[in-house]
Amino acid sequence: MTAKLHILHHHSLRTLNTFGIDVSAARYLKITDSAQLDALYREPALLEMPRLLLGGGSNLLLTQDFSGLVLHIANEGIAITGEDDRQVFVTAQAGENWHGFVQWTLAQELPGLENLSLIPGCVGAAPIQNIGAYGSELADYFHACDVFDFHTGETRSLNKQDCHFAYRDSVFKHDLRERVVIINVTFALPKQWRANLRYAELANELATRGIQSPTASDISQAVITIRTRKLPDPTKIGNAGSFFKNPVVTADQRDALLAKYQALVSYSQTDGGYKLAAGWLVEQCGWKGKSIGAAGIHAQHALVLVNHGGASGADLLHLATQVGDDVLEKFGVVLEPEPLIV
Ligand SMILES: Cc1cc2nc3c(=O)[nH]c(=O)nc-3n(C[C@H](O)[C@H](O)[C@H](O)COP(=O)(O)OP(=O)(O)OC[C@H]3O[C@@H](n4cnc5c(N)ncnc54)[C@H](O)[C@@H]3O)c2cc1C
Repeated sequence: MTAKLHILHHHSLRTLNTFGIDVSAARYLKITDSAQLDALYREPALLEMPRLLLGGGSNLLLTQDFSGLVLHIANEGIAITGEDDRQVFVTAQAGENWHGFVQWTLAQELPGLENLSLIPGCVGAAPIQNIGAYGSELADYFHACDVFDFHTGETRSLNKQDCHFAYRDSVFKHDLRERVVIINVTFALPKQWRANLRYAELANELATRGIQSPTASDISQAVITIRTRKLPDPTKIGNAGSFFKNPVVTADQRDALLAKYQALVSYSQTDGGYKLAAGWLVEQCGWKGKSIGAAGIHAQHALVLVNHGGASGADLLHLATQVGDDVLEKFGVVLEPEPLIV
């Protein structure tokens, strides 16, 4: 049976993005069943419209009304789908809340994803920028995902190599951008688990609690505590987490900067380059806690742009541009935005 498409017209996106930007979509469709994508493929008028895929809206900056079709991916379901001698495979549908999914795996005593606790958004968006935090990233546990391809009308499976995961990057930001919908993601969770305490702040939080051999749930709780302490809650103050990626520079560029700025924060990379702490660069330009109108930089977190109330997407983009220009002028380093700007 063909799925029925309940298309809404001029639908407000205000509650569907964590910046709380009040723009609308010319057409809006909530996808709760992947069969709707097959039906959509048979509607040329809809298929030809500009498309925006939306999960939890926590990595988006909407700067104007969207003149095309917003597909809000909201299919749900989680299941253990297999195992081998080393790992258990768990598949989550794209519309599942990420943190809820992580907590589900921990409740099943399937560790692995605990360092990624409390990242906002949905499972289906997690591969897009290869979400990462506290010494772990999605690619560490990603096994495969099913995607619906708008060019062929078919559903196919992509493995880890197909996805070209890198720092806050994947094939979904390049060749497959807006071409495929991620329908579900399968994770390979290890049977032999070891705590990942590479991130010093996490190790310190556990030490403060007197925990020497943490379980995955202890780590999750510690991550939740740190994140709640440090990051603004988007339900209280509009934001999309870190607005800029940490820029990666060559060893020569980093050495030249270090000679000038002894306090420069940088981390060596396996390819010989260095990742610079974008928050430090922004702070050195005097932007921490500053605002232009209702668009501001968070007082505790120089990387987080916030909507103090009533800022438009254009206001936030203007602020981000000013910050980026200042960092370029002072340090000669280009800051790249992390969220999708529409
Ligand atoms: C307070 C806060 C803290 C954050 N902390 C972190 C962090 O620690 N680490 C981190 O990596 N990120 C972090 N983020 C960013 C964000 O939570 C993640 O990028 C998250 O994965 C976005 O999920 P979403 O469902 O909200 O995606 P959306 O914002 O809805 O979409 C993001 C991108 O994914 C695409 N997309 C969404 N769903 C699909 C799908 N099913 N198929 C194909 N494309 C799709 C969209 O088109 C868009 O390009 C944070 C954000 C906030 C607000």
